[in-house]
Amino acid sequence: MKVLVTGGAGYVGSHVVKLLGEAGYEVLVYDNLSTGHEWAVLYGKLVVGDLEDKKKLRRVFEEFRPEAVMHFAAYIVVPESVREPLKYYKNNVANTLNLLEVMEEFEVKRFIFSSSAAVYGIPEKVPVSEDAPLKPINPYGETKAVVENILRDLSEAKDFRYVSLRYFNVAGADPEGRIGFAYPKPTHLMIRALKTAKGEIDRLEIYGTDYPTPDGTCIRDYIHVMDIANAHILALEYLFDGGKSEVFNCGYGKGYSVREVIEAVKKVTGKDFTVVETERRPGDPPVLVADSTKIREKLGWEPKYDDLEFIVRTAWDWERRR
Ligand code: UDP
Repeated sequence: MKVLVTGGAGYVGSHVVKLLGEAGYEVLVYDNLSTGHEWAVLYGKLVVGDLEDKKKLRRVFEEFRPEAVMHFAAYIVVPESVREPLKYYKNNVANTLNLLEVMEEFEVKRFIFSSSAAVYGIPEKVPVSEDAPLKPINPYGETKAVVENILRDLSEAKDFRYVSLRYFNVAGADPEGRIGFAYPKPTHLMIRALKTAKGEIDRLEIYGTDYPTPDGTCIRDYIHVMDIANAHILALEYLFDGGKSEVFNCGYGKGYSVREVIEAVKKVTGKDFTVVETERRPGDPPVLVADSTKIREKLGWEPKYDDLEFIVRTAWDWERRR
């Protein structure tokens, strides 16, 4: 089976490519390397290209003839999306339309989309389930919700089936140690905490301690990148088996506060570091925790690494060798 993976040189994409390769899929990665890396593509062929470049994309479809597409290529930084919304709509929405149009031209009818828990905004009920209303509170989440709506309409109109995976907070690295998070300017909590432990960052800031949570800091559902990667393989098999279009949460259903993550990082690394409390960061919902019943039941997804300290350890093993 041939799978085209956009953004396959990036963080989540490269872990999925590894599992696809191990499972015997034929992979082609299409990535502009804006945040991804050639070394991260462990299987298949890498074509360096942008989704804006429809001509190049057509040539890739013409030659490779994929049977399914997994779409990871997107910008992912919430605060940046607040400052630069057009950049986000262009890449995450307009470029996705290019991809869907080329898929239609070449009659590729199966699609797996990297969505986000950011589509829920501030959920009324936590853990949040897939049928909760989509009310994003930042442009990043808005771009993911717009694409989900496009996918829903497309699958109703045409012979096109998709699975949208709403990621909660992806973290950790492949326990075998060959790939991991490698963005130039990390904004995510766990990575910043690890870089502070490593001495690359002077002090770690906690963005807001006055949230309506037990310790005043935001709560997130941290999920190991390999468990997320495995969900993609199950979703692909589901579509190849004739499964209908679906949306699934990808999280463990357990939340940890910013302070708890920092404690776990200090414990695993054995390093103490300076932590300062600062203002809230715009666009942050207080609590995001997944109800993951649906993916467990429908895809038979069983997480293997549901353990915050293990997640931190794999990320630390990766980070300190970089
Ligand atoms: N956060 C923080 N300090 C940092 C980075 C993040 O306090 O240096 C907080 C952030 O405000 C949020 C949580 O950690 O409440 C998770 O943020 P992250 O950027 O890791 O993921 P997001 O949930 O925004 O996708």
